[in-house]
Amino acid sequence: MQTLKILHMYPNMLDLYGDSGNMELISYRLKMRGYSSEITQYTIGDGTSTDFSSYDLIYLGGGADFEQQLLADDLLSCKDKILAAYKSGVFMLMICGGYQLMGQYYKDSNGEKIPGLGLFDYYTVASTNKRERCIGNIVIETEIDGRSYKVLGFENHGGMTDNVTSPFGRVLFGNGNKFGSSSEGYREKNVIATYLHGPLLSKNPVLADSIISYCLSRQTGSKVTLTPLDDELEEKCREVMLGRLLEEKK
Ligand code: GLN
Repeated sequence: MQTLKILHMYPNMLDLYGDSGNMELISYRLKMRGYSSEITQYTIGDGTSTDFSSYDLIYLGGGADFEQQLLADDLLSCKDKILAAYKSGVFMLMICGGYQLMGQYYKDSNGEKIPGLGLFDYYTVASTNKRERCIGNIVIETEIDGRSYKVLGFENHGGMTDNVTSPFGRVLFGNGNKFGSSSEGYREKNVIATYLHGPLLSKNPVLADSIISYCLSRQTGSKVTLTPLDDELEEKCREVMLGRLLEEKK
């Protein structure tokens, strides 16, 4: 049986708004199709014994400034190995706090500069006024396998991200990378970094399947086409939410 290996980094520290649900969802959608998954939980100190490149997917959720500060040194100590995994094509999914820490730096709401891994060019600065946060539902439009897809989620961040060279999507409702931004997140072939909680993947099954399909295809070296699942309920929820939010915007 084909097994997808997932490294879930800092699940005990980066798990806002059900972010861990994203990995449960990947496991579920694999299982429904006869594939299996193996999720390894990475916690502070596991760096030396972890072979990051041996995973198919590396995942980081979102977290508060305090937790980001606590884990920053540990993350930095893994820089070379994470960089090698990313360069070899391992898929990297990062939400909010995890997104911020992969950039140049995150200057938090206390004015403290937390160094990022520097994998990407973007950087993030939060207002020192802790009330100034982008909070609420968000809808972005992106392209998945050549087709336009609306990604739904919930954002809650004080950090404003700049210098994003290739955004994940175009904002249709909500804020995105910063207040009133037209762009949201960061994307490359094997990278999705986004402010969308939700959990992201349960609200956007097409996105979940595109990540699964990327990982399975990379393992075998040939394009894996997934059998469709019954997403009727998910689609009905999406219809209601998208209708409500995009109508509100008019
Ligand atoms: N602490 C960061 C911020 O406020 C990230 C928050 C999050 O992960 N939701 O911008």
